[in-house]
Amino acid sequence: MSDATPKGFVQMPDKVTTAQTTKKGIINNNSTDPNKILPLTYPWARQHYKNGVANNWVPEEISMQQDVELWKKTGPGALSEDERRMVLWNLGFFSTAESLTANNIVMAIYRHVTNPEARQYLLRQAYEEAVHTDTFIYCCDSLGLDPDEVYNMYLTIPSIREKDEFVVNLTKSVFDLSFTTEGTKNIQLFVHDLVGYYVIMEGIFFYAGFAMMLSMMRKNRMVGVAEQFQYILRDESVHLAFGSDLINTIVEENPEIWTQDFQDELVQMIKEGVVLEEKYADDALPRGILGLNAEVVKQYVRFIADRRLERINLPKQYNVENPFPWMSEIMDLSKEKNFFETRVTEYQTGSLDWE
Ligand code: MN
Ligand code: FE
Repeated sequence: MSDATPKGFVQMPDKVTTAQTTKKGIINNNSTDPNKILPLTYPWARQHYKNGVANNWVPEEISMQQDVELWKKTGPGALSEDERRMVLWNLGFFSTAESLTANNIVMAIYRHVTNPEARQYLLRQAYEEAVHTDTFIYCCDSLGLDPDEVYNMYLTIPSIREKDEFVVNLTKSVFDLSFTTEGTKNIQLFVHDLVGYYVIMEGIFFYAGFAMMLSMMRKNRMVGVAEQFQYILRDESVHLAFGSDLINTIVEENPEIWTQDFQDELVQMIKEGVVLEEKYADDALPRGILGLNAEVVKQYVRFIADRRLERINLPKQYNVENPFPWMSEIMDLSKEKNFFETRVTEYQTGSLDWE
C-alpha cells in the first residue's frame, strides 16, 4: 500500500521540521510544562491529533446484519471453513492486540513523553484503542461468538501468541516503574519500545489482517466486520505516522543513540517481526480462499515493512511490488458516504441482539 493520505486528512510535510524546536527536547526535558500546550513545540503532534478527530467513528455506526446472516448461513453461498478460520484468526489477534497497545501507551509511553501536544495525541490514541477494543466486543456479540474462545486465542493459537510475546518481550524494561530515559542505553531501550509497538505491532502485525479482511469486503462477504477493520486501518495509519515522527524526533534530538549497531539491531528486529507475520498469514490462510492466498499476503507484509523502514530512515530490505494497490483506495473511501448508508440500514433493521 502506498502511504497515501486518506481523504479528509491534512497532508503532512514530508520531513518533520524541528530545527527551531530541538532545544526543548521531546524526552528528558526538565523545563517542559506538561500543562502548557501553547505555543506548540511540535506542530506535527497537533496535526496527527486533528487527523485522528477527522476519522472519528464508533462501531455501532456500522450494521452487522448481513454478517450475522452470512455467519449463520449453511449450504450454497455460506462461508467456507477456510473463510471462517481467517475471520476468527483476525478477530482473535486484534481483540487482544488493541488492549496491549493501549496499555503500552498509558503505562509506558505517556510517563516519558511529557511534551503537552504529544500527550494530547497519546490521549487521543488511547481513546481510539478503546474504540477498537469496543469494536471486537461488538463483533463478538453480534456474531454470537464464544468470548472465551476469541479472547483466549492469543494464548491458544501459537502464531498469534508469538506475535504478542515478541512485542511484550522487547518492551519489558520500559514497563519497569524504575525505568528512566536518562542516558544513551535507556533512550535506545525506549526507542525499542516505540519501534516494537508503533512500527511492528501497529505497522506490520496489523497489516496482514487488514489485507485479509478488506479483501473480504471486495468480495462482498462479512462486509460489516470488514468495514470495522477499514475504520481501524485509517486510525492505525495515523498512529503509525505519529509513532514514526516521535521516533525520528527522538533520534534527531539524541543523535548519539543512532549508531550503526543500533540501526542494525532495529532492522533485525523488524525482520523478525516480518517472519512472525508471515507465519501468521500461513496459519490464518493455510489453503487460500477465492483470490487470496498466504503467499500474496506475505508479499504485502514485506512491501509494508519496507515502507515502515524508510519512514524511520532505515534501509529497506525486500524491494517487492505492492500486490494490493487497492488497499490505498479502500483507505480513501468517503467516511461520510459510508456513515450515511450504514445509518439508514441500521434504522431499517433495528438493533442487534447484544445488550
Ligand atoms: Mn488500534
Ligand atoms: Fe493503534
